[in-house]
Amino acid sequence: NEFEDYFLKRELLMGIFEKGYERPSPIQEEAIPIALTGSDILARAKNGTGKTAAFCIPVLEKIDNEKNVIQAVILVPTRELALQTSQVCKEIGKYLNIEVMVTTGGTSLRDDIMRLYQPVHLLVGTPGRILDLTKKGICVLKDCSMVVLDEADKLLTPEFQVSVAEMLSFIPPNRQILLFSATFPVTVKDFKDRYLPRAYVINL
Ligand code: AMP
Repeated sequence: NEFEDYFLKRELLMGIFEKGYERPSPIQEEAIPIALTGSDILARAKNGTGKTAAFCIPVLEKIDNEKNVIQAVILVPTRELALQTSQVCKEIGKYLNIEVMVTTGGTSLRDDIMRLYQPVHLLVGTPGRILDLTKKGICVLKDCSMVVLDEADKLLTPEFQVSVAEMLSFIPPNRQILLFSATFPVTVKDFKDRYLPRAYVINL
């Protein structure tokens, strides 16, 4: 398979090649075409497999930069991972004019509020802060149609689980969910049964 086979926007393909990716990794080969059809995905994937681009590419493909609303949320368990993931989106999406915002706990809430007065298309962050901003009415998720849970086994621990569920209640029910997890504890299985029962399952 080749990245050209997915009929991606030309600007996105340019970003992918400029990042140095020549052809899709196995997880990308499975996840990208399915994600582009709009199906939910549950993928068992470790770090180092290329999983970040496996969800960033379909997310970037589907965002319409002419609509100044949040269209996708990528949830991650830590600030460090949020920064890394947004960096991948910015690099691959270099030619797309998509506004990516990182928002996590442990930083100034006021700065995030100011940033949200500007257009944001894609939010990358941790559940608690995103929920906080959403409950305040500052972050608006009613036009969000894609949600990624990366490292879902860490996102669905008791610490985060309630925030993730509450945040999802602000997103229209027809959203697409892409869930990536290295392991499948019962918390992830319960989440799958409740939120993405018909997900396409990828096991690598
Ligand atoms: P990840 O599993 O997302 O942490 O990615 C692991 C490493 O693989 C990162 O350094 C990526 O930049 C790199 N990578 C991801 N996809 C590809 C690809 N299709 N071709 C070459 N390198 C890739």
